[in-house]
Amino acid sequence: MTRRNPRYDILFEPVRIGPVVARNRFYQTPQCAGMGDQYINGQIGHRAIKAEGGWAVVNTEICESQYDSDQGYPGMKLWDDGDIEPLARVVEAIHRHGALAGTEIGHLGAGAANLYTREAPIGPSIYPVLTGYPVQVRAMTRRDIRTFLDNQRDAARRARQAGVDIIYADASGVEGPPLSFLSRHFNRRTDAYGGSLENRVRLLRQYIEATREGAGPDRAVAVRICMDELQGPRGITIEEEGAAVMALVGELPDLWDINISDWENDSLVSRFGPMGSQERFAAFVKQRTTRPVVGVGRYTSPDAMASLIRRGVQDFIGAARPSIADPFLPKKIEEGREEEIRECIGCNVCASGFALKAPSRCTQNPTVGEEWRRDWHPERVAPARRPAKVLVVGAGPAGLECAHILGKRGYEVLLAERERELGGRVAREARLPGLAEWIRVRDYRVQQLARLPNVSIFPDNDLDVEALCELGAQHVVIATGASWRRDGFGLAHPDGIPGAELPVVFGADSVIRSEPLPAGPVVVIDDDHYYIGNVLAEKLRLAGREVTLVTAAGEPAQFTQYTMERRRTLQRIYELGIEAVPLHTVRLIETHRIHLEHRHSHRPRELECAAVVMVTSRLPDETLLNGLQADPQRLQRAGIESVTAIGDCHVPGTIAAAVYAGHRFARELGEDRGEGARFKRERSVIFASQSRDELTP
Ligand code: ADP
Ligand code: SF4
Repeated sequence: MTRRNPRYDILFEPVRIGPVVARNRFYQTPQCAGMGDQYINGQIGHRAIKAEGGWAVVNTEICESQYDSDQGYPGMKLWDDGDIEPLARVVEAIHRHGALAGTEIGHLGAGAANLYTREAPIGPSIYPVLTGYPVQVRAMTRRDIRTFLDNQRDAARRARQAGVDIIYADASGVEGPPLSFLSRHFNRRTDAYGGSLENRVRLLRQYIEATREGAGPDRAVAVRICMDELQGPRGITIEEEGAAVMALVGELPDLWDINISDWENDSLVSRFGPMGSQERFAAFVKQRTTRPVVGVGRYTSPDAMASLIRRGVQDFIGAARPSIADPFLPKKIEEGREEEIRECIGCNVCASGFALKAPSRCTQNPTVGEEWRRDWHPERVAPARRPAKVLVVGAGPAGLECAHILGKRGYEVLLAERERELGGRVAREARLPGLAEWIRVRDYRVQQLARLPNVSIFPDNDLDVEALCELGAQHVVIATGASWRRDGFGLAHPDGIPGAELPVVFGADSVIRSEPLPAGPVVVIDDDHYYIGNVLAEKLRLAGREVTLVTAAGEPAQFTQYTMERRRTLQRIYELGIEAVPLHTVRLIETHRIHLEHRHSHRPRELECAAVVMVTSRLPDETLLNGLQADPQRLQRAGIESVTAIGDCHVPGTIAAAVYAGHRFARELGEDRGEGARFKRERSVIFASQSRDELTP
């Protein structure tokens, strides 16, 4: 085992948090995993892996304190004593690996329309709930405030009973009462809770005190607080509310966990900002309290982390996304294996699980969400049951991951790639504006492959059926990817687009590969709604083109709402002077003109253009697959036992899906999975005692 670099010793110092001690400075901040208590076994598995990976503190996601804070799945709850047991199971799993367990008790206030409990949403004043549901927040009476505080105290007591070490008073979002009371914008009260800063901090103070009362003397109380909403005087600002909080209650909790709101600011995508963009907020708090401070910033570099501690910016390296992409990040640094860190690329595919109400997945770490249900460990794989030679064709994300895991399992692996450069779509897309960090998907895997003597890589090698059958492989994995269609076929144009055969029409790949387009204005048709359409429009605009982005959706880049980058994407589109034409489909393309139609009014519209770029859907590259499947006897003669398509060649999708497909194939090769036993299911339990009588009030 290599030794830890002494430069990083500082990261492994224990730190006291009130009555408890963290074994090092790695702190997994509260992080939504899209599992809540609905997928509780998944939740347990997900948190336990992080504790095993060396994080000193592992938090759950938000844990709602009461019935009138009901975001529906995917959160956890401490509404009543029945919620203690599931949380206790999570805590137990975290403790088993020597980490402290934390839980972010919070109230979602205007962020919860209470669709399940049907309670009235609450806040400091009357205003619409922030979820877009047509219901309003009710201004809390003094009695409501007392109930709110009692509920927080009870929830903290339940967390204590569940064994939680660090119990939060959550003030991370302006939707919850502690922060909405602090906000000039939302708090219009004229009583002792409104007006002056001292009054607006009052509820936060009482909330921390109530949490302390419930937590008891031997558990730490943490506050996660938004220091700024990045909206200037319209929102919370560090200079005003942030400073007041620190002056008035800076010593009240045992730990400050600093965020900026809303979530899209705190989990900024790499396209719009680098690692460490929140540093000044943590530093501000650190200068104003003696309590330990946690700050996040998508830190994946141990040098950057050590520097933060040395410079006194913060006491803990807070992380959500870096801990998802690599749950073993602390262990790898501790064991001098920092070059093995699987670095987060800042794509926010993980966060989309929350909005889509599905367990999180990760582009870099395919084992996320599979820790329990498939028993996938992020670092360990089972050795091959019997030796075999496996040929993987295509070194995109699917092929690279597949070869990596097959190699780790001990198979003899040949990885062939047509291009001189490895990486497939990732290598190409990482050259597009803002996506440079995505190259980590390739680099991590190429680095890992270089350590495996049983894997041979053959770049610049365009395999055909003939050559493939000569290689003596028993298993062939086809990971040849997909290409963007030129015919316009997609959701809005299920029969394609008339005129798409003209030479002025290009598939997205032409722009991705920087092939020349005819001079003049360009129209990009985006029927994909994720990043490619708007990133290509940006690339063309930055090259000086006049660009129009046409989409049948209500706004460009609709899917990016889930990855929390839509606001910034739209801002970028409009600031660059890209003309957006939403709600339009294409009727016909002519050589210098495109004919559009409004989706609802059917009113026609024409645009002059020199080129049209299709970002509509993709077609798998199945040439090799079809060639192999066409001649089973040939395969038999060549000793090929199986041919399997994975990744975009199987079904075009996200990079995360391609990595996952490669990983899954490699895990399952030679394993008997059993009929129907695809993964363990979470099932609802019907309690024997729950008789009809009991349910009747
Ligand atoms: P995925 O996302 O599924 O990994 P990509 O499109 O990123 O798919 O990668 C597919 C890779 O397969 C590309 O780099 C491409 O050059 C390579 N490829 C396609 N056909 C062949 C072939 N016949 N021989 C070798 N490599 C191929
Ligand atoms: Fe990072 Fe993307 Fe994984 Fe989230 S999904 S942890 S942003 S790599």
